[in-house]
Amino acid sequence: MNSPDLILRNARIATLDPQQPEASAVAIGGGRFLAVGDDDEVMRLSGAATHVIDGRGRRVIPGLIDSHIHVIRGGLNYNLELRWDGLPSLADAMRRLKEQVARTPAPQWVRVVGGFTAHQFAEKRLPTLEELNAVAPDTPVFILHLYDRALLNRAALRAAGYDRNTADPPGGRIERDANGEPTGLLLAAPNALLLYSALARGPKLPYDYQLNSTRHFMREMNRLGVTSVIDAGGGFQNYPDDYQVVQDLHAQGQLTLRIAYNLFTQKPKEELADFTRWSAMVAPGQGDAMYRHNGAGEMLVFSAADFEDFRQPRPDLPPGMEPDLEAVVRLLVEKRWPFRMHATYDETIGRLWTCSRRSTATCRSTDCTGSSTMPKPSATATSNAWRNWAAASRFSIAWRTRANTSSSALDMKRRNARRRSSACSRWACRSARARTPRAWRAMIRGMRSTGWSRARRWAGDASIRRPICSTAQPR
Ligand SMILES: [Zn+2]
Repeated sequence: MNSPDLILRNARIATLDPQQPEASAVAIGGGRFLAVGDDDEVMRLSGAATHVIDGRGRRVIPGLIDSHIHVIRGGLNYNLELRWDGLPSLADAMRRLKEQVARTPAPQWVRVVGGFTAHQFAEKRLPTLEELNAVAPDTPVFILHLYDRALLNRAALRAAGYDRNTADPPGGRIERDANGEPTGLLLAAPNALLLYSALARGPKLPYDYQLNSTRHFMREMNRLGVTSVIDAGGGFQNYPDDYQVVQDLHAQGQLTLRIAYNLFTQKPKEELADFTRWSAMVAPGQGDAMYRHNGAGEMLVFSAADFEDFRQPRPDLPPGMEPDLEAVVRLLVEKRWPFRMHATYDETIGRLWTCSRRSTATCRSTDCTGSSTMPKPSATATSNAWRNWAAASRFSIAWRTRANTSSSALDMKRRNARRRSSACSRWACRSARARTPRAWRAMIRGMRSTGWSRARRWAGDASIRRPICSTAQPR
């Protein structure tokens, strides 16, 4: 055996191996663990070229894997963002905002894109539009709160081109004053597309700055212990144009995260054309250990997009959803593309499930045996495939819940789930009863204490990437 490149010793290493949960030293060579054990046995492997790090008794954990993040899109903009994560007061937040306004050159905006809530501030409130206008009379300021609202100062309204003639988009509301002029408050009702499309009207960074920005974002992820991610695409993130930066960083050996990326359709009613085109360009699994294509998601068709503001009434997906989705799922199964969908409500998940079963049943691919390989929910509600799929769906709910809703919204979601599960004995609801809300609490606890990796295990690790039709698995 060649001597290791790296030995880490004198540390408290959590291995997650039940046979040997703790170790004090590891040896690494060629990107793999060569030995895990105590200092004496591992240090015996040390060679002249081995770099030895003294952990000084500190805790070491395996790298965290985030199974749903928008790192490719986020990286392009990260350097443009002011972050309010963890600030204790609105006064602190406004001081940071003022400093950022002073150093932001025209025509750039100051953006706070999520990562905070009013509940973290001592004042228990968001800034008012008047406060934003006072701090930034000329520089556009855009503040995104969860997925429920965005605050724009007057300069941002001007820069984004919002005026009295701007119509409310479907599922979104532009608050207006007595004269019909936008005040600067945009509300998801409950579609957050209004908020993101306003943000997309801001200037982009030039290519070189996007390279730098993506590296900073990856470094921030690394600082938090994240080493691998599944990138969920995102709105306004076009393939292949908006992937040039991450591809170039990969080609230069500058990725510090392992990225498996899903492709996200961009055009309502032209989703099938998007996936038809992309499936001729790239295949699932294509790439290497650092950067790999991973199939479709989290948006397959716009009509199947679910919502996450649980303080708003649940909207039904439109009746035209099924034919849209069936056509895309059939294509993906034929092309053997794994896929995943953003879904937050049981009612949505039930419809998506039925629809996906129908698509795979009519799949024309010769090596797809269609619905015969799939669990029949009524008969085998506890079969592994169903459990994995349901767990993956639940995981999506929990992730949304943690990231985007307040505890009162979480309570409401739990109450709704309890109401639904007690009122209904359908197969989907039997599962809901089994998993709600105790399992959510356990999962959220798990994510708080150990990050996403434990939640992934809870959800059945492979299920996160497993398509509904097992024959659609590329490998
Ligand atoms: Zn997402």
